Amino acid sequence: MADLPSLWTHEPHRVLAFKPGDRVSDIDTHATPGFDGSKADAPALQAERNERFAQLQEMLYANGRAGDTRSVLLVLQGMDTAGKGGIVEHVVGAGSPMGIRYTSFGVPTAEERAHHYLWRIRNALPGPGLVGVFDRSHYEDVLVVRVRNLVPPDVWGARYDEINAFERELTEAGTTIVKVAMFVSLEEQKQRLAERLERPDKYWKYNPGDVDERALWPAYQEAYQAVLDKTSTEWAPWHVVPCDRKWYSRLAVTELLIETLKSLDLSWPPADFDVEAEKKRLAAS
Ligand code: AMP
Ligand code: MG
Repeated sequence: MADLPSLWTHEPHRVLAFKPGDRVSDIDTHATPGFDGSKADAPALQAERNERFAQLQEMLYANGRAGDTRSVLLVLQGMDTAGKGGIVEHVVGAGSPMGIRYTSFGVPTAEERAHHYLWRIRNALPGPGLVGVFDRSHYEDVLVVRVRNLVPPDVWGARYDEINAFERELTEAGTTIVKVAMFVSLEEQKQRLAERLERPDKYWKYNPGDVDERALWPAYQEAYQAVLDKTSTEWAPWHVVPCDRKWYSRLAVTELLIETLKSLDLSWPPADFDVEAEKKRLAAS
């Protein structure tokens, strides 16, 4: 637990890990698992941990430039207002844009629809040394697609195994996948949508269709349960993050990223030139 701030009583990747038998209906979206601090502790801690993330991310990027082919992929899934955008902005945004590959997945375009559902996903994978971020992902193809009957059940039903095989292939090719399922309560979502309607600077985030989705909440809960039950694998496990408190979810995902980057055992790549000779050459120039 070295390098984990003392306010964390448990390692986030353990305490947030989805375990077989866990029920979506039992998630306390207001809880702060493993964290003993309060909202007042968050700003200073977040700033400090953002720096740690940025340092490790730069190291991954530097290694990528030096020929290391490994990468990290953060998969963010959650209902509207869960805070995916906030994670992108306030957590991933602490890193250097050079080393981040961000992609958001919306309703498939005509071109995307003409291909297999994993086509657009494969096109967005992080290259060597990059941290990829999926704001929604291939899981939409077993979430909204399932809930809204966009393809027949036997079609979406076959996708869980296909997704597991796909993620295994990515892992074997050197991508560490960090899957984060973000859970907000129906009531908290209502408040966040109401705020979007109160503030002209938030209208752009509001979509009238979000209200229709609220009526399908139980079906989404069921679809999320299936995702967690069927696609939390040894090589790409799910983390379940309560998101009613944004300060907590941001701290938690920051730690998940830091833990992942640390597990890669990175160091600064050594010089591929003679440092002393270069110092002399530079001085003489
Ligand atoms: P947002 O992330 O708020 O911009 O919304 C994107 C919308 O695209 C959400 O309503 C998603 O459910 C929808 N979406 C994403 N992927 C798919 C997909 N494969 N099929 C249908 N709708 C999708
Ligand atoms: Mg939206």
